Amino acid sequence: MKILRHKLCNDDGTPLPFRKSPNTGGKIDHRYLVMHYTAGRSAESSVSWLANSASKASAHIVIGRDGSVVQLVPFDTIAWHAGPSSWNGLKGLNKYSIGIELDNAGKLIRHGNKWQSWFGTEYDEEDVIEATHKNESEPAGWHLYTQVQIEKALEVSLLIMNYYDLGDVVGHDDISPGRKNDPGPAFPIQSFRGRLIGRADEEEIQYKTITALNIRTGPGTQHERLTVSPLPKGTKVEIIRAQGSWRLVDVIGKVKGQMDVQGWVHGRYITEAK
Ligand SMILES: [Zn+2]
Repeated sequence: MKILRHKLCNDDGTPLPFRKSPNTGGKIDHRYLVMHYTAGRSAESSVSWLANSASKASAHIVIGRDGSVVQLVPFDTIAWHAGPSSWNGLKGLNKYSIGIELDNAGKLIRHGNKWQSWFGTEYDEEDVIEATHKNESEPAGWHLYTQVQIEKALEVSLLIMNYYDLGDVVGHDDISPGRKNDPGPAFPIQSFRGRLIGRADEEEIQYKTITALNIRTGPGTQHERLTVSPLPKGTKVEIIRAQGSWRLVDVIGKVKGQMDVQGWVHGRYITEAK
């Protein structure tokens, strides 16, 4: 997946499903990603509702329980997902955030040996966790998200966070506590944030060789050259550590048919690839 003109596309540039919502504002000042649940019957019903002017609500994307993704608002445009909200001194987070809705029935009440949603659908025990919301004092049932849905949300979120250089991911229940419960205790917000922020930070700066460059077993010309030496001009590498003017590097991909090549090069002959 990638982003083209503020819309999700496949790697080959073909667009993902887009259902235009009229419920939009001006341009976003990108700061945060906000996670929601739909509290709806299905992804389709939520998409229809958010694309209807009567709802006076929208989100940038809706992710179904099967991992399907529908976009409703381009990522540079304000969607109406947050409502009255505040975070880190900012008020009205619609202006500052991209909103992702996950198809999920939300908070459930016990009904015999089943759990019932506000719209009357019953769910089996195995699709529900009983937990106390961090902003509440009494336990309730919470519709579980599916694994494929969480994984798709991670993939899309990582793409969006890197592309728009967002600082953090928060729940609607973080920015509108007391008023909103989503994404709730069934959503693994801590590990989700950890994987997004962690991976965004971990992304190494890539370098490339500016000439055919010897790569050696140690930091200095007294060390033996590796058999793949010299690296061709333009070979992409990541720096693992430095010693004086020498750099221990990982070659990205294959060089001369070899994978996982690691060795020392002189730092003067590599430059940032971007
Ligand atoms: Zn919400």
